[in-house]
Amino acid sequence: MIDRKTGALSQISVCEEVILSAGALSTPKILMLSGIGPKDHLQEHGIPVLHDAPQVGKNYQDHLEVSVYGRTKDPISLLGNDTGLRALKHGIQWTLWKTGLLTSNVVESGGFVDSSNCGRPDIQFHVLPTLVGDVDREPVDGHGVSINPCFLRPKSRGFAKLRSPNPLDSMVFESGALKEQEDVDSLVRGVKLARKILRAPALAKLVEHELLPARNEDILDTELEAYVRNYAKTVYHPAGTCRMGSDTDAVVDPMLKVKGVDGVRICDASVMPTLVSGNTNAPTIMIAERCAEFILGLDACANQRLEMV
Ligand SMILES: Cc1cc2nc3c(=O)[nH]c(=O)nc-3n(C[C@H](O)[C@H](O)[C@H](O)COP(=O)(O)OP(=O)(O)OC[C@H]3O[C@@H](n4cnc5c(N)ncnc54)[C@H](O)[C@@H]3O)c2cc1C
Repeated sequence: MIDRKTGALSQISVCEEVILSAGALSTPKILMLSGIGPKDHLQEHGIPVLHDAPQVGKNYQDHLEVSVYGRTKDPISLLGNDTGLRALKHGIQWTLWKTGLLTSNVVESGGFVDSSNCGRPDIQFHVLPTLVGDVDREPVDGHGVSINPCFLRPKSRGFAKLRSPNPLDSMVFESGALKEQEDVDSLVRGVKLARKILRAPALAKLVEHELLPARNEDILDTELEAYVRNYAKTVYHPAGTCRMGSDTDAVVDPMLKVKGVDGVRICDASVMPTLVSGNTNAPTIMIAERCAEFILGLDACANQRLEMV
């Protein structure tokens, strides 16, 4: 282990197993720094190869969404509720009665839609009663609503690899976002649907007009595609960089054990072979619960399945 502040190295001995649970970006980093990863890449950085695992750091996946914004007729959005007297009121209401605005997770509603007639939902909507920006983009001014379609099964893949053998250096990261046209097309379908929802009679009494991608209803698909490419953003669901599988290239086996070495399991979203079609927190907790069962030897079925593979 390395102390981030002092840079001091320390060694910890383990009797049973190491459970690596650093998330989809740091887990492959720790594996590679430990000599488990693509052989050529490790050698490039002078790291002794413990096990050649070509898929470590590959297969990166994430959910992306893009906002469709509507201006509300009245000042009814969340804007301004986090400052001044209003913030104080919400704080007091929560403290005393555990009710009010602070019970909200802000993503007030959502839904799943099969936009491509493939037989199961391929778009998830996150709907927020406020105009949201992004980490590098301020929200649009004023009161409004954001309807955010997000694709559920991205085709694009990215990767994370080492910048250097120094653990304190950041990774080289390429998300691969929107590399595949199919992902752009999914978001364009989602945006079209969100624009339709914004103009639905049920919202007409609340929504004055669309702000973005365009006030006019009739715009070209090419304009929607340009909007998607400019405004799509992560939903923060990184996964897939140490994928689980029964094939030889998989990084971990179905019991989450790192292949090619003894005594290491991975327990985080990096083991997902493909992203789940929805939010990733609960599935990651499920992976952790399964991991706990495997460690305790409580899963006889999985043991049998593994023997059959
Ligand atoms: C802003 C944001 C909002 C989200 N909202 C939702 C949501 O609404 N619903 C939902 O389902 N999911 C949501 N997610 C996704 C969800 O949080 C993740 O899918 C889930 O936390 C993944 O769990 P994990 O164990 O793979 O990684 P993480 O939760 O990232 O856990 C990894 C841990 O390892 C630690 N770590 C990393 N490197 C090291 C190191 N070298 N040494 C020691 N510790 C290390 C990290 O600090 C972290 O605590 C959100 C994510 C973000 C970032």
